[in-house]
Amino acid sequence: MIGRGGWIAVSVLAALSPAGDLSAQAGAREGGAEGPARTIFRGATVIDGTGAAARDGMAIIVEDEVIAAVVPVDELGAEVLEGAEVVDASGWHAIPGLVEAHTHVATMANRAQAEFILNRYLYGGITTARDMAGDVRSLMDLQRASLVKEIDAPDLLFSALMAGPDFFTDPRTVSSAAGETPGAVTWMQAVTGDTDLVEAVTLARGTWATGIKTYAAIDGELLGAIAAEARRQGIPVWSHVHVGPARSLEVARAGVRAMSHVCDLGSAAIPDDVFREGQEGRRSGFVDVDLNDPVIDSVFAAMRRNGTVLDATLRIVVQIGQRRMAAIDTVGARPPGAAGDSARAGPGGRRPPPIDRRRRGVRPRCETADAFALTRRAWEAGVMIAAGTDGMTPPDSVFPALHEEIRLLHEDVGMPMLDVLKAASYHGAVALGLEDEIGTIEPGRKANIAFLREDPLAGPESLRSVELTVKRGTLYYRRDFVLGEPPERPGGPPG
Ligand SMILES: [Zn+2]
Repeated sequence: MIGRGGWIAVSVLAALSPAGDLSAQAGAREGGAEGPARTIFRGATVIDGTGAAARDGMAIIVEDEVIAAVVPVDELGAEVLEGAEVVDASGWHAIPGLVEAHTHVATMANRAQAEFILNRYLYGGITTARDMAGDVRSLMDLQRASLVKEIDAPDLLFSALMAGPDFFTDPRTVSSAAGETPGAVTWMQAVTGDTDLVEAVTLARGTWATGIKTYAAIDGELLGAIAAEARRQGIPVWSHVHVGPARSLEVARAGVRAMSHVCDLGSAAIPDDVFREGQEGRRSGFVDVDLNDPVIDSVFAAMRRNGTVLDATLRIVVQIGQRRMAAIDTVGARPPGAAGDSARAGPGGRRPPPIDRRRRGVRPRCETADAFALTRRAWEAGVMIAAGTDGMTPPDSVFPALHEEIRLLHEDVGMPMLDVLKAASYHGAVALGLEDEIGTIEPGRKANIAFLREDPLAGPESLRSVELTVKRGTLYYRRDFVLGEPPERPGGPPG
């Protein structure tokens, strides 16, 4: 992989001391040579995130930032314990650090606000967050601050956005490119069939983004070309399920790494003539579709074939409610605060200008129950589901919204907790293209672990019993968490 991914791979190799070398490492430390700092979490029940059953009485051996070994406690030899920091994890359950697969912490850059959000994430068991389009100038700084432990935050990965020129009147893009022209900056590029995509993808990578988000006003041919060039340059494409005119089936066939927002899967089932009327501006709004249409099975088949992850973002569907969605006679854009990407006030606390309601196109009507049913169908069809919220944790909540997304996946979609935990860790890692580095508790993976007092297989409430989050081998005890006052944010609640 190119760029950042390569750098991570090198750091993993440099830090890793395989289990077989543990005694040699211990010997080296005794001899006065510099060895890795070793931490042993002893006595935990481990759910490793691979889908394997829980294992009791395990020790997780961490060297610097990396998991060196996971062994039964009674196999811990004196030479391994020598010089190690031992954390008594007996009675605790270890799960992979959670991956928040869809958030927005810098739609409008606000450092204090972003730190407030990310701090709550980390102490809620989240060790990685994928930001799905915002002001990259701010995101880069937050990423750096987290990496060098200037702030308590998950690892922050982010996207550079591409969309058709029509999209860049959206006030969110104006906020995220404040001072510049949205569509004409490297992290928010307007693309058409005439765009030099080799250059566009290279510019996107130059922002330190590790994914290209395709959002709207893109046809199937252009999306396929973006995906192909991104593949060539080693950066994943994260697409909305529907980037009208390209609908869910075309998006799935383009071979993108991840698709966001389950409701728009139904776009494939909109009759062609109705969809065409929408594209031609003769019709707009929500249309009823048969969400059991076999064409949606074709979408799932293409996603499975291409290894595409679905981040369903159920929580935002529930939160906003279909009633409010239905009240909006517009398509391809949403009002401030509506489902999908959260909107923010403009600079100086001014409300953003109203969204252009002349946008063309139709969208599938999708009630909350439909969103659950579609997610369940995707899961049953073997599509990888990731857990992402689209942001918007209430400011006074002491736990991140991701816990709620996990609850919805378990209770409303009907996924067993073992599968939900895999969704909330490993599948998030797959979406990021980091599945060889994070997302499971296995030797060679980053030491990203959440320790819970209660059994996570018993239900999602257990996430509130988080005692300790370990990120890259650093310990963050829940007892040290302080929510604090949410910083002032002009015009809206924190995401
Ligand atoms: Zn979003």
